[in-house]
Amino acid sequence: SFETGEGKQKVALRIRPLNDAEIEEGATTVAHKIDRQMVVLMDPCEDSDNVLRSNRSREKTYMFDVVFDYTATQDVYVATTKNLIDGVIAGYNATVFAYGPTGAGKTYTMLGLDSEPGIYIQTLNDLFRAIEDSTEDLDCSVYMSYIEIYNEIIRDLLNPSSGYLELREDAKGEIRIAGITEFSTCNAKEIMALLTKGNKQRTQESTAANKTSSRSHAILQVTVKQKSRVKDINEEVRVGKLFMVDLAGTERASQTQNRGKRMKEGAHINRSLLALANCINALSEKGGKGAQFVNYRDSKLTRLLKDALGGNSRTVMITHISPASSNFEESRNTLVYADKAK
Ligand code: ADP
Ligand code: MG
Repeated sequence: SFETGEGKQKVALRIRPLNDAEIEEGATTVAHKIDRQMVVLMDPCEDSDNVLRSNRSREKTYMFDVVFDYTATQDVYVATTKNLIDGVIAGYNATVFAYGPTGAGKTYTMLGLDSEPGIYIQTLNDLFRAIEDSTEDLDCSVYMSYIEIYNEIIRDLLNPSSGYLELREDAKGEIRIAGITEFSTCNAKEIMALLTKGNKQRTQESTAANKTSSRSHAILQVTVKQKSRVKDINEEVRVGKLFMVDLAGTERASQTQNRGKRMKEGAHINRSLLALANCINALSEKGGKGAQFVNYRDSKLTRLLKDALGGNSRTVMITHISPASSNFEESRNTLVYADKAK
């Protein structure tokens, strides 16, 4: 199952419900969950050409570690992310990505609504509970930071006035963001308010595809640091990092009729998504032999995530699509990419 599978990299799929606009335009559902791991996508094309192509199947199935459809609640968290928490407390790193085109439900899954909290807040709640329940003789502190990467520029979403931030590699070879704000609150309400406010700071530029298209990657980084309580040393005994990433929309430049500035954004977004795909592909090669050829330097996103992608880290990618016939091409492109990421 998703929880017990051997691999350290998992790919899930979430198909959101049809929305009012899609229903109004007469769209039908073309993405159907068949079973726990399989989805079928049906080509809605009914032009005369299709008769000629009829010996080619109009249906294609794709496999995932787990598939959710319109019946799924925010419990998607339980089946994808909850089991990463123990590892992070034990000092391992992990990354959860929301991937997919604008409007497919990435922010709903990661941030959610006040009434339907997503993965960010559910993870933090369970993390705090696990630390409280821990019987180990360790002093534990949790730090949180929330940033965006937009056109290869890093901004602090919790402190937008701090300007552009740079990645720095420390003496131990660890990547840090210079000047980043780190919060260490454990009040869930306060955190949700911080994240919601931070999310409003995300760079949103309109495209023909969507008025509030998210052109930036938003990254919530949670660091768990533990020190021995008994020994009188100030040395960190354990550090575990968890990155929860709401990726930029993956819609193609041609679809959004991007020109000029938008085109440049598209190039940057594709560059980091491509770099990410290349890293995940190299890492998922059997025997881990590919690991030495992984090139993290190709984008800020992959540089930042470097120690939370390879080695003993675990990654979960939650792919998002609309079920609507009007989004068929976009859904197909997304499923093909996600399939490669496995
Ligand atoms: P994205 O971040 O991928 O651009 P959003 O998460 O903003 O997409 O989702 C677009 C709209 O659809 C939002 O209004 C959101 O509340 C709604 N939505 C997305 N996924 C779901 C879902 N699973 N159930 C109900 N509403 C959803
Ligand atoms: Mg979004």
